[in-house]
Amino acid sequence: MGSLMFFLSAAYVLTLLLKFGNSAVKVSMTWEDFENGTDGLRIISREEWGARPPVAREPMVVTPTPFVVIHHGGITQYCYDQTTCSAIVRSYQNFHINDRGWFDIGYSFVIGEDGNAYEGRGWDYIGAHAPPYNNQSIGICVIGDFSNVLPNNAALKTLSALINYGVSLGKISKSYLVIGHRQARDTECPGSVFYKYVQTNLRWTKHPVPKYTPPKTTVESIAVVNDNANVTYLSYKCLELKRFRGSVSSIDRMNRSISVFLVLTICQITFGAQHETPVRPNIISRSEWGAMAPKWAARNLMVDPPPYVIIHHSASDGCTTQAICQARMRSFQKFHMNEKNWSDIGYNFVVGEDGNVYEGRGWGKHGSHSIPYNSKSIGICIIGNFDGHNPNAAAISATKSLISYGVAIGKIKDNYTLLGHRQTTQTICPGSSLYNLIKTWSKWSSNP
Ligand SMILES: [Zn+2]
Ligand SMILES: [Zn+2]
Repeated sequence: MGSLMFFLSAAYVLTLLLKFGNSAVKVSMTWEDFENGTDGLRIISREEWGARPPVAREPMVVTPTPFVVIHHGGITQYCYDQTTCSAIVRSYQNFHINDRGWFDIGYSFVIGEDGNAYEGRGWDYIGAHAPPYNNQSIGICVIGDFSNVLPNNAALKTLSALINYGVSLGKISKSYLVIGHRQARDTECPGSVFYKYVQTNLRWTKHPVPKYTPPKTTVESIAVVNDNANVTYLSYKCLELKRFRGSVSSIDRMNRSISVFLVLTICQITFGAQHETPVRPNIISRSEWGAMAPKWAARNLMVDPPPYVIIHHSASDGCTTQAICQARMRSFQKFHMNEKNWSDIGYNFVVGEDGNVYEGRGWGKHGSHSIPYNSKSIGICIIGNFDGHNPNAAAISATKSLISYGVAIGKIKDNYTLLGHRQTTQTICPGSSLYNLIKTWSKWSSNP
């Protein structure tokens, strides 16, 4: 047994040496193995994978883009079918919007080992993946961690086909150059093994130089070390855009002024808006979760915007996927309508640990959740039993953004009071852990 193990490890080391030995770049596959036009390329639209709408968009500055930047997801999460890959792409998007504070998923496209290309920001908008290349590149991320293995053939073939397709559309420059994310900053991305493969591309360049360097020109000039792990980042202000008005020499004068004008305008609109309107949470409508029609139309709130927000838990099992959360919504509604004999589900909104908000009675409507506050409050229920533990980060962040979004759009009073259900009646709702948690939120009050 021992000698067999020794033989196997020796053979493994030998293979590694052959693959990545001294002779610089040698991997089992090279980019040329997959240079076959755009055969079989399948792009899954944002709608198909269930994207949230972007918070804002900025048009690409240098087009067609002179660079293609290659990334990996950087976490050991892989997928081989469209359903799983779509869920991972949604998790990247949620992470980039909720945690990084970006406008959208950072990449232009994401590729899964199911062989599909998932549309991120697409061909025409600036990404948030590799400053200072964001405004002059298409950023492509392959789902998975490729420090020790290559993406599978399906993914590599799609990578090549996607770039060829971008060139044929006139979105990527005919004389484009390919780089790995690690060439733009201090990061492992796209993983050592995958990076070796990237270097086999004839368009790979050892010393990339951005067409021009306005590193502080976009709202999302953000430095990211690990693509999908928690790290600090810096963002810069739009105002600095003005600086490169006069400093660009290498691109056509007219294109330049048009794109600078567009970027500045959009930047101003979105930057201004960002201060006033927090990120809209992803709200799943009643028709999306399959709600029944209410038995009778809900009354309007007596005090609108309402001065109270009341937090509940469902005291049921939780849910971390949209499909299960939607099933829970349907069962809450059935229970409230059939057993409690209410007109409809009692809450205004419900939040799942999948990070989604589910529309109950919605804004401005009288709920059935905490007498005597129903006519002057928004009732938010988090799905799960939170007597012994807190909701996960996704649910907490969705709840907070729902509340601040409600305030921003005038559906919750500015200086509202936050209460737990147990403060309004004899109940343990929303569970001791969640109750202790909301006591730390700034608008919570000990006097209902
Ligand atoms: Zn990256
Ligand atoms: Zn309650």
